[in-house]
Amino acid sequence: MGQREDPGVETVVRGVERLCLGPWPGVNVYFLHQSDGLTLVDTGFFFNGPGLLRRLQGMPPLKRILLTHFHPDHSGSCALLARQLGVPVLVQPGWWLTRTLLRLLRLFRIGRTAPPPELIPLEEGDRVGRFRVLHTPGHTPGSASFYDEERAILLCGDNLVHMPWGFRVGVPWWTLDHALQRRSIARYADLGAKLVLSGHGPPWRGDLTAFLEGRTAGPSCLPRTTR
Ligand SMILES: [Zn+2]
Repeated sequence: MGQREDPGVETVVRGVERLCLGPWPGVNVYFLHQSDGLTLVDTGFFFNGPGLLRRLQGMPPLKRILLTHFHPDHSGSCALLARQLGVPVLVQPGWWLTRTLLRLLRLFRIGRTAPPPELIPLEEGDRVGRFRVLHTPGHTPGSASFYDEERAILLCGDNLVHMPWGFRVGVPWWTLDHALQRRSIARYADLGAKLVLSGHGPPWRGDLTAFLEGRTAGPSCLPRTTR
């Protein structure tokens, strides 16, 4: 895989920045500039770490790392960043299963992702700045989402992805429990989200409740977005 560096940070809305890291189609990390400090959501692959460190040097001090889930394209650099910057990593319970898998992969030299030194478990309803933690397992046992009620912004990890071929349920071939993931996605319908920031692809803007209506129960992926 190539190690192409990111094309640049995009301001999605005030206080929320997105950085798409390569290789294509890319994986997103988000910078949340909140009153209690800077939060990094997800960390890309292990080879994105040095570039992220350099970029963070030009930003306010990092307060914490938040993980949507413990897959190597989202947690790959969290150990490096946590160690270098002395910040905690916040993640939902359930990460242990994937961490065990990562250790096995590492053993067979398939990946170089090491577990971070300090993990703080997140629970449903916890708050990280303006964002409320939602327990939304399925893609992984510890998949989490984060919702800012005031601005109707949903960070959904890989539960929904906005790929060039559509806005849909995320990454079926990497999802552990599809039925559970759909139940988690069904929870989004109650939120009233207007802006969805996923692990892959550009921001999706629209009425998520209306979009999901009648679409989460079926076996197929969500249909192509009209945007
Ligand atoms: Zn992913």
